[in-house]
Amino acid sequence: ATPAAIVAGTGTAARAGVLVKDVAALERSHAVDVVIFDKTGTLTAGRPKVVAVEPTADGWEADAVLRIAAAAQALSEHPIAAAMVEAARDRGLVLPAAADFASRTGAGLTATVDGARVVVGNAALMAAEGIADGAGDRVATLEAAGRTTVRVAVDGRTVGLVAVADTVRPGAAEAVARLRRRGIETLLLSGDARTVAEAVGREVGVDRVLAPVRPEDKAAEVERLRAAGKVVAMVGDGINDAPALAAADLGIAMGSGTDVALATAGVALLHADPRLVPAALAVATRTRAKIR
Ligand code: ADP
Ligand code: MG
Repeated sequence: ATPAAIVAGTGTAARAGVLVKDVAALERSHAVDVVIFDKTGTLTAGRPKVVAVEPTADGWEADAVLRIAAAAQALSEHPIAAAMVEAARDRGLVLPAAADFASRTGAGLTATVDGARVVVGNAALMAAEGIADGAGDRVATLEAAGRTTVRVAVDGRTVGLVAVADTVRPGAAEAVARLRRRGIETLLLSGDARTVAEAVGREVGVDRVLAPVRPEDKAAEVERLRAAGKVVAMVGDGINDAPALAAADLGIAMGSGTDVALATAGVALLHADPRLVPAALAVATRTRAKIR
């Protein structure tokens, strides 16, 4: 590769909003077979809003469920946590201080609030905590509508559900369609429930949806596809997916992503626009054409 050609190619890329950090990775990417997208913060805006709070135990009202769950979430950096704290403030709820906060990455959290042990998160976390799932039917209904639904348990009993909705980024469906026209397979990988991930997958038109996938298994899925001979690009924002970005032939960090995403990815998209993914791959092809 001649340095001049690479500079020319990456210069065009930068003008389009694609920052090439690792030229060797970009050179590999002219032959990408599969593009894997993270869901939250990548195909979706990653700014979920609370759309429903439902008590599931006697003696509990919606505000009480939201208050205790949001108090536990106040120390979490997850977008779901931010949504719950905001919803509690909107309802004028005063949040008590939480103690013993412990984050369970890709699952939820535990904390002590008002002297009670509070668990907020997905079905796997409740199972791990030995808490009976008393709200499965209601969760299934909300999730089938694309709502990410978290359980709230207090002292070992599920007391309510909080459903959040995220919006698909403008341009996500178009990005997927462009990749398909280039003959590239698209895969959505998410830690969210299968039904929620499938609802987003349908909306953007990806070929395949894999969910729920634990954070550590995202990288394993990348490795599996590579072992099968595929050249893999992984697009993520770095929240839970930095190892997968690093494992891919080409890691693409989404604009407004985390610093760790920027550190591990070969390419950074300067704007949070999924259409820059096909643009980045087109740059690789053009760069290569100039080199040859
Ligand atoms: P994604 O792959 O979509 O970025 P994550 O791996 O961050 O999702 O989270 C997977 C699932 O774990 C979420 O859909 C949610 O059910 C649960 N979860 C993770 N963090 C939290 C939290 N702070 N509060 C409640 N639930 C959480
Ligand atoms: Mg994410």
